[in-house]
Amino acid sequence: MSTTFRIRALDPGYLDTVRARGKDDFGNDVVVMTNVDAGGTPLRCCLREAAVGEKVVLIAHRAAPIGGPYVEVGPIFIHAERCAGYETTRSYPHGFRQRQLVFRAYDARGRQVENRIAEGGAAAEGVIDGLLSKPEVAYLHARNVLAGCFMFTVERGP
Ligand SMILES: [Zn+2]
Repeated sequence: MSTTFRIRALDPGYLDTVRARGKDDFGNDVVVMTNVDAGGTPLRCCLREAAVGEKVVLIAHRAAPIGGPYVEVGPIFIHAERCAGYETTRSYPHGFRQRQLVFRAYDARGRQVENRIAEGGAAAEGVIDGLLSKPEVAYLHARNVLAGCFMFTVERGP
């Protein structure tokens, strides 16, 4: 049980810029696709799985807000058009609960401090609380366990 964290999806303004430009930050074309895979297309704009038939795009994204040697660029799905985003920022994303994620803890310089897996997603709040209770931890990134793709950021509340 936690009331001490905030879930942050990708900034809608940044995603609007990418969509309008037709290129992601790494020069890849923004190509609109119709999702055919229920449960296999996690949307980082609103933190749920895309339904079959929804229009999505796949872009390269650099999740780390700070530069340095731990910077990684990876693929993320977003809606092809602006959506409502993720509004229940004090609650764990219901639409990703079934996913097993790894939580990577970073310090204020963007260096990895510790990594923990939330088994089955059920224990996610406990893992988040445990990592954020460490004073050296500044924020967390949730990532897919096998593919390693960035999912969302977790910061201290409110
Ligand atoms: Zn969305």
